[in-house]
Amino acid sequence: MKQNLIFLGAPGSGKGTQSAKLVESKGYEHVSTGNLLRAEIQKESELGKKVKEVMANGQLVSDELVVELLKTNLNLESKAYIFDGYPRNIDQAKTLEDILSGFPYLAVYFKIDTEKMVERLTNRRTTKDGKYIYNLKTNPPKQPGICDVTGEELVQRKDDTEAVVRSRMEVFNSTMNEVLEYYSEANKLVKVDADQSMQVVYDAIIKKIEQ
Ligand code: AMP
Repeated sequence: MKQNLIFLGAPGSGKGTQSAKLVESKGYEHVSTGNLLRAEIQKESELGKKVKEVMANGQLVSDELVVELLKTNLNLESKAYIFDGYPRNIDQAKTLEDILSGFPYLAVYFKIDTEKMVERLTNRRTTKDGKYIYNLKTNPPKQPGICDVTGEELVQRKDDTEAVVRSRMEVFNSTMNEVLEYYSEANKLVKVDADQSMQVVYDAIIKKIEQ
């Protein structure tokens, strides 16, 4: 059975972009807790209303809310997933360990410098559902403001403004070390240098996950 992948990395480190490539080339399912939460906000569901402000400020949504949403979107018996944006802290890492019990997985850490991430995020544009991701400087759409694949208008996420990006970085830096240690001690962690072109990062991931 193909192993599941847990993508770890700061916002803007390329997890979503690489997930999209791997879904297309290798048949993984992509599950992004950020995308699931944004969909709830768009639907104006009860959950969406609860999380809207927390997300707009770049803070973390409570573990309980996120895990419920995650679980209802998984079918581990028949699919191999890329977990993108989950886990965000050590408690979530332990919860995911339970969810995945018996299913093989590997954690992939996307290493990148903070200032580069700010640059990437403030230039990021996506489709409304977050599925297709562009960068105004390094990966612009063929027609400005329009998705190459779906033809829909691209948007800037509310939390991709510089002030919110900086608080998201702080949240990330304060919670991720423990998570990295957790997977490292379990011998389940590989690292890629995410500060390279999309294709080079992709090749590096393939090499690590297929070795
Ligand atoms: P992302 O799309 O992964 O950058 O996530 C966007 C926002 O959604 C984060 O800043 C959090 O507010 C929230 N979020 C996404 N995943 C999680 C998670 N695993 N735990 C808590 N909050 C999350």
